[in-house]
Amino acid sequence: MAYKYKDNYREQGARKRLVELLRKKGIEDEKVLAAIGKVPRHFFFDETFYNQAYKDIAFPIGEGQTISQPYTVAYQTQLLHINKGDKVLEIGTGSGYQTCILMELGAQVYTIERQEKLYERTIQVLPYMGYKPHFFLGDGSKGISEQAPYNKILVTAGAPFVPDILLQQLKIGGLLVIPVGNEETQQMVTVLKVGEHDYEKVVLDTFRFVPLVGDKAW
Ligand code: SAM
Repeated sequence: MAYKYKDNYREQGARKRLVELLRKKGIEDEKVLAAIGKVPRHFFFDETFYNQAYKDIAFPIGEGQTISQPYTVAYQTQLLHINKGDKVLEIGTGSGYQTCILMELGAQVYTIERQEKLYERTIQVLPYMGYKPHFFLGDGSKGISEQAPYNKILVTAGAPFVPDILLQQLKIGGLLVIPVGNEETQQMVTVLKVGEHDYEKVVLDTFRFVPLVGDKAW
């Protein structure tokens, strides 16, 4: 497939302004801000909508799904405290933008998407951009037990509850970040696995995600 993406001064400038906006909104992790400053978000947009790519908004990517708002991506990524080499399961690849941010931080990413058309797009676009995560097509609400355990698990869609099966796939010391709530709004939840059956849960701010649809979800 021939891609014509270019990262021009106009987009680079808009990206710098986005980073400053996220800093003002409270994102403090400089590594996360640097990753946002590096990944060309407009590559995930049709050229007609390039002017929307560096606004702090979610945007439709087809199949009724969205590329997450940059603030949300930065917020979730900051909570994950990614260390170089961390094995991260991302549930809800979507556009693949969040995947690139995680890879910029040095994570080895296992990413799963249930919508075939989105999966097909990301397996083309991300390698073209130089990102080579492990891609999976299927229901990520059950995790991917064959590849477990993980240092971190990130859910990028709104869940009705924290699926036990995801907690089982964390290493001890591992962390799950998942928005949990109803179809309207969800609260960001972090769960740290402190022992084989011991967890520390923290409930944070309110967000609005598309639903996590699957066997252990809606
Ligand atoms: N971080 C992504 C981005 O910026 O593009 C977020 C994409 S969107 C907010 C959430 C994605 O989760 C959608 O693409 C949706 O199809 C996917 N999804 C929902 N339920 C899923 C499931 N059970 N397994 C895998 N993906 C799922």
